Amino acid sequence: MKSSLLGVDSCTAGDFAHWLKDSSPQVEGLMQEYAPRILMGQYLQEVVSDIAQKFNHSGIQFARVNASVRNVRRTSAGFEVHTANGVRLVDYIVLAVGHLRKRSAFPDIEQYFSNPYHDLSRIKKIPAGSKVGVLGTKLTAVDMALLLRRIGVAHVHMFSNSGQLPLVRGLIPTSCEDVAFEKCPGKSILDFFRWFRREKTYAPEYVGFITMRDVSVRLEHEIEAAAHVRDWQLWLDGSKGWIDDYWLRMSTKEKRRFYRKYQGLWMSYRHPMPLANALKIRSMLRAGELSVHAGYKSMRLKANEHFEVDVSDSLLELDYVIDATGVSGNLAKLDSVLVENLIDSGMLSQYEFGGVAIDPETHQLFEQPGAYAIGPLTQGSLFYVSAMERLVIHAERVAEHIVKSQCPARSVHNPLYVGARS
Ligand SMILES: Cc1cc2nc3c(=O)[nH]c(=O)nc-3n(C[C@H](O)[C@H](O)[C@H](O)COP(=O)(O)OP(=O)(O)OC[C@H]3O[C@@H](n4cnc5c(N)ncnc54)[C@H](O)[C@@H]3O)c2cc1C
Repeated sequence: MKSSLLGVDSCTAGDFAHWLKDSSPQVEGLMQEYAPRILMGQYLQEVVSDIAQKFNHSGIQFARVNASVRNVRRTSAGFEVHTANGVRLVDYIVLAVGHLRKRSAFPDIEQYFSNPYHDLSRIKKIPAGSKVGVLGTKLTAVDMALLLRRIGVAHVHMFSNSGQLPLVRGLIPTSCEDVAFEKCPGKSILDFFRWFRREKTYAPEYVGFITMRDVSVRLEHEIEAAAHVRDWQLWLDGSKGWIDDYWLRMSTKEKRRFYRKYQGLWMSYRHPMPLANALKIRSMLRAGELSVHAGYKSMRLKANEHFEVDVSDSLLELDYVIDATGVSGNLAKLDSVLVENLIDSGMLSQYEFGGVAIDPETHQLFEQPGAYAIGPLTQGSLFYVSAMERLVIHAERVAEHIVKSQCPARSVHNPLYVGARS
């Protein structure tokens, strides 16, 4: 996401951009760009230090504990938080564990990477000259394809059901006054399409904007279209404020249909790639270093420890495969001792549309007073849960609920955030 759109303050849009501006004149130029992730890390460190100082001045203890939480147990005195270093007692607990590792579909097979961002150092050791498959064709897959190009692998095969790449981010206007930002009023996928098509501002961009399937031709059109402001992208960005409510209004049948048929389409349009990445992907396609395949059916490990992958246009033979399909909504597929223990004790339950079951208003875990979750674990109960701007709002809801529900008769040790990097 562009720097100008990021921040941890729900009242001040673009707090990160202001920080960039104040930090140094050199980084100010990044305000309308995609700033390096390391700068985002520095910004968050400063935010946390500021908050710690404010707490200390108000006489509230703020402690950062560097330990992996293995279990949380409810007792009559509060929640026991178990780490290798010991046990802490707290009155409230918030699971903010981010993107947890997935279990491997091919356990103990070194050539298969289930968690691209966790496995970066291993991925960087893939020998140049290898044939590498990337399962998925959205932003993470694009990141991986570009990394593999830098490593110098022989060929990258990206594959997914849709075989569609993300579209390309257009210019961000300095003012959005003329943009029609109204909410989508309906409650179905069809209503959403009607709303999206209402002004057809995408129509002049190129023929086949909704239907085109040829990856290379489409990318050419997309790169050309990205030279301009693309109103429809701004509408979709604006949906961040109401898309959770829309999701909650959708029927069970519609939600299932979304996951079955439209999730890939949504990801392509809602989360476009930066122009710089699109240009690199185009040059890989032109140089014959990358192919993108639709109609992914299955993957097998052969006796020679190579992978065989069925896609609609061929049978791929691959030396390595990276799973770039993102976080798992199926809790049983997560590789986390904490999640396993919490499922066993009944504190966490699987929600039918993925992630943990929570009250979407308060983020409290289903039938677990005092225990909350935010972030990717809640994908399913809510819709848009991992972007920083949403996390800020969701964290505020948790904080409000904790403050309202405090029982004055009981002393409050403090709420504990498990995870809490941002
Ligand atoms: C490549 C990539 C790019 C992204 N780009 C953007 C972007 O541009 N804009 C945006 O808004 N969002 C972006 N996101 C989404 C991003 O996930 C969030 O913005 C943000 O990092 C999430 O913060 P978090 O604190 O919820 O989770 P995380 O940042 O994942 O932090 C969770 C923390 O919990 C810790 N943890 C997990 N389990 C335990 C345990 N049992 N005990 C103790 N600690 C534990 C983890 O080690 C980690 O430190 C991106 C994500 C990825 C992967």
